Amino acid sequence: MGEYDTLRTKNADKLAKLNLPGGDFPLLKAVVWDAKYPRNIDGLVSFTPIVAPTVIDDAHGTYCAEVMQTIYPGEIEFYAFAGSSKLEQAIDFCIENGIRLINASMHFIKSDVAEAQLKRYAEWGGIICCAAGNNEGQAVNYPASSPYTLAVSATNYEDNDGEEIDVTADSYWVVKYSNGMYDSFNGTSCSTPVVSACVGIIQAFRPEWYLNDVIDFLDTNSVDGEEEYERIFSFPDGFGKVEDEVNIKQRLCDPRNYRKGRRGSGKVEYIVIHYDGNDGATDEGNGNYFANNDTGDTSAHRFIDEDSMTISVPDDCCAFHCGATTYKHPYCRNDNSIGIEMCSDKDANGNYIITEATVSNTVEATKELMGEYGLGLDAVLRHFDVTGKNCPAPWVTNKSLWDDFKARLVETEIESEDDEEMVRYAKLADIPDQWGFRDTIEILMNAGVINGDGSDASGNDDVIDLSHDQVRSLIFEYRGGAFDRALIAKGLDPAVNE
Ligand SMILES: [Zn+2]
Repeated sequence: MGEYDTLRTKNADKLAKLNLPGGDFPLLKAVVWDAKYPRNIDGLVSFTPIVAPTVIDDAHGTYCAEVMQTIYPGEIEFYAFAGSSKLEQAIDFCIENGIRLINASMHFIKSDVAEAQLKRYAEWGGIICCAAGNNEGQAVNYPASSPYTLAVSATNYEDNDGEEIDVTADSYWVVKYSNGMYDSFNGTSCSTPVVSACVGIIQAFRPEWYLNDVIDFLDTNSVDGEEEYERIFSFPDGFGKVEDEVNIKQRLCDPRNYRKGRRGSGKVEYIVIHYDGNDGATDEGNGNYFANNDTGDTSAHRFIDEDSMTISVPDDCCAFHCGATTYKHPYCRNDNSIGIEMCSDKDANGNYIITEATVSNTVEATKELMGEYGLGLDAVLRHFDVTGKNCPAPWVTNKSLWDDFKARLVETEIESEDDEEMVRYAKLADIPDQWGFRDTIEILMNAGVINGDGSDASGNDDVIDLSHDQVRSLIFEYRGGAFDRALIAKGLDPAVNE
């Protein structure tokens, strides 16, 4: 278990509130700008200096980096600088090296020179998240008070208030101290890297956004917290919630693999469902493959996996997904259809399966396309229905799965909510990889708290057959420490910080 897995487990309740998206995330380059130069901690964080550090050994900046890496789902390359005197060189370095995110859990006295640098960075497309750091009755500190930064307050402190505050996030995250002990980090110094990591995620999705776009997004999508909290930073539907809208990415296909425009009527009249015939490939992986290779006239408009969808070919273009020399279907062709590829997996017997999360995302995406193009249920076809090809194989082998899918396309919202209550997961791999759900159930299987049917005695691919509600209850009990004795007995980390 890696250090960050431990920190993620210890901060599971905080992470759950953020409703983070899953999937593959690009390498994030970020700067920790602190009062002193932060230090490297073996196996946790290492910093590259932007300007030669003067005073090292600042644990505070190191904890900021730990919080960011606990939250950001990909790797982070950390850069650091200290104080305010080298701000111009630091901004130069960031612009030259494409570093668009700075965490500033620190403050200093305002100057015209500093303000000009902050403005320059914001106008270039960089975002500096700054700790408000003010006590009751005081103004928000600089540079948080600058219009060229994103000012962060902490839910745990009522006094970090002021009109310059852009967003509020949870403080008291568990970090690992350099002496190897775990303890909590608090104040706006801690809530700021929480927001920095979330901004890194937003930048991965929306690289074209500037500071004000990100602030608008946070303003709209952060939810009001309960009682003592003014606001808790939270992503809305569409950012990784499997049962709601699909998280959409775009990675355009190499133009060799599809044709611009649509011949004939130019209209979208059918939606054709495929599977990718891979074991565990992702929508991002497929998107990258079709973007980087000459695939010999094969392509699809969309790829969907358990946590997101990648748009590969624009809807107004012809993807080569269901062409053939002879057809079963009289009208459906590449030129009048949208092709959706579901990412498949293989079960223990080597048979292809489409997991519930992927099916659910495909239902949502198909429903949306039906609405957009005014299509009825009869316009939704399997590749098999168009050409006779065994695709998607699990839904050709077992037509009832296809019938179930089509039934879900016409369910009303209320019915589909009821349906979600009934969701069951046959195996560990079927549990959504969101909010740490699957990881936690895996931990409980490793600890022997959950036993499968024994069909995979050496691994965790047994049939466990848990309902969604059961999974949720187990997660909450786990987080409360209910299984800690069993975990410790197996040499695993307890959920609750002792
Ligand atoms: Zn197909």
